[in-house]
Amino acid sequence: MNICIIGTGYVGLVTGTCLADFGLSVTCVDQDEQKISLLNSGGVPIYEPNLEVLIKKNISAGRLTFTTDLEKAVKQSKVIFIAVGTPSNDDGSANLKQIETVAQQIAASMNEYKVIVNKSTVPIGTATKIKEIINKYQSKSIIPASSSVIPAKAGIHPSSPSPLRGEGGVRVKPPSVIARSEATKQSQPTSKPFDFDVVSNPEFLREGSAVYDFTHPDKIVIGTESAHALKIMQEIYRPLYLIDTPFVITNPETAELIKYACNAFLATKITFINEIANLCDKVGADVHQIAKAMGLDGRISPKFLHPGLGYGGSCFPKDTEALYHFASTCGYDFKLLKGVISANKRQRELMTEKIKYHLGDLKGKTIAILGLAFKQNTDDIRKSPAVDIIRLLLKEGANIRCFDPLAINNTRKILPSLTYCQDEYETAQGSDVLVIATEWNQFRNLDLLKIKKILKTPILLDLRNLYEPATLKSLGFTYEGVGRK
Ligand code: NAD
Repeated sequence: MNICIIGTGYVGLVTGTCLADFGLSVTCVDQDEQKISLLNSGGVPIYEPNLEVLIKKNISAGRLTFTTDLEKAVKQSKVIFIAVGTPSNDDGSANLKQIETVAQQIAASMNEYKVIVNKSTVPIGTATKIKEIINKYQSKSIIPASSSVIPAKAGIHPSSPSPLRGEGGVRVKPPSVIARSEATKQSQPTSKPFDFDVVSNPEFLREGSAVYDFTHPDKIVIGTESAHALKIMQEIYRPLYLIDTPFVITNPETAELIKYACNAFLATKITFINEIANLCDKVGADVHQIAKAMGLDGRISPKFLHPGLGYGGSCFPKDTEALYHFASTCGYDFKLLKGVISANKRQRELMTEKIKYHLGDLKGKTIAILGLAFKQNTDDIRKSPAVDIIRLLLKEGANIRCFDPLAINNTRKILPSLTYCQDEYETAQGSDVLVIATEWNQFRNLDLLKIKKILKTPILLDLRNLYEPATLKSLGFTYEGVGRK
């Protein structure tokens, strides 16, 4: 089956590469010529563990190609994934311009029945919008869809019986699907507009472990009202189905909201533990002990209970804003989410106050920052808390020395005036304070005696809680974490 992915960013490139590795023939499309020529010359525009190896393997196997020619890629593909950006508008709502443009481009390139799969994170109703745009931009009237409609209720594999599994787990085609696909092949003249289905298939991968997440997901969500499209989606994800990945099959609107609900909930969990940590700072309690005890409660789970500078990255900030805005447009004031968004913003300010508490007036002070990426194992600095804090410190007149194992090039593009260093020690040299802003593993085992010697004053502000306060104090540091001293 030929697949085309439109948008070769973090999601599109990982999706395309992993689907090629599942044995499918994949063309990744992007409008960014530089990105495509880099990929075509053996380079990889982003860092993700294991991604480069998989790209090389699948290019050599002839299953993965890269192009800027969207029309050709769409024409030769049965399934088209959309993985373009959905950034925030000024009011917080999701900006759907890239999605709308792609829908128009797909419409102009249709040559047979297609399944159009939206992987971008989008507000409820976007699948319908994509459908409307494609209908509008296809030159003539659409042949009435003959696809059988499935009920819009969630079915969860593997406990619920799948209509596509026969006895002994053998996958079978339902007769209606076979009849329809044959009919589609034989009866659609190429001069007429073409039938298509739109599927919502949100992506849950995390940057920094994107390849692993894509190939070992907690779940696959498929939102569609077409049994034919569902069958094709299940074929695509067959390798995951075979390893018993749960499938949540639902309607497009529910699938779209599932993605926002997951991200908003995780953002809430992070913010909750940050609020507890801030309270710990006031009363001398230890947030690690609290998070550990909370995590031992099976109803809570230990994940996303790590206090720090607040959530960042390309998803949580924009998705919480977009969900809040979407709820407002539906006449619903999502008070909890409003609180989360504002507490997360305040967290950056509180961390800056921590630095000020130890250094006093920041004008002319030199602050060493370890970590620029929004989290470890990525070069992505979109809405990075580290970058936000640097901006606040610059406003106060501080000088910044900084280091990150992967994100220096990206940061230099937006903050060229910082002093970028080769490693942790060059960063600390002569600085008034050392601030750990990203939880890179290599920052967990610093030569602390060396750091102490080269800092102007031995102050370590550990905004990711990588160190034990007692150890640092015994070495003569002034140390403070988040919610533990
Ligand atoms: P990205 O900015 O890294 O990539 C988007 C790509 O789409 C860019 O390379 C851009 O050039 C390309 N593009 C835009 N319009 C195009 C067009 N008309 N034709 C061809 N290419 C076009 O974005 P991303 O981080 O991959 O995110 C994509 C979507 O997936 C967003 O909605 C995001 O919220 C969602 N998502 C992201 C993550 C993540 O961790 N990054 C995880 C899950 C979901």
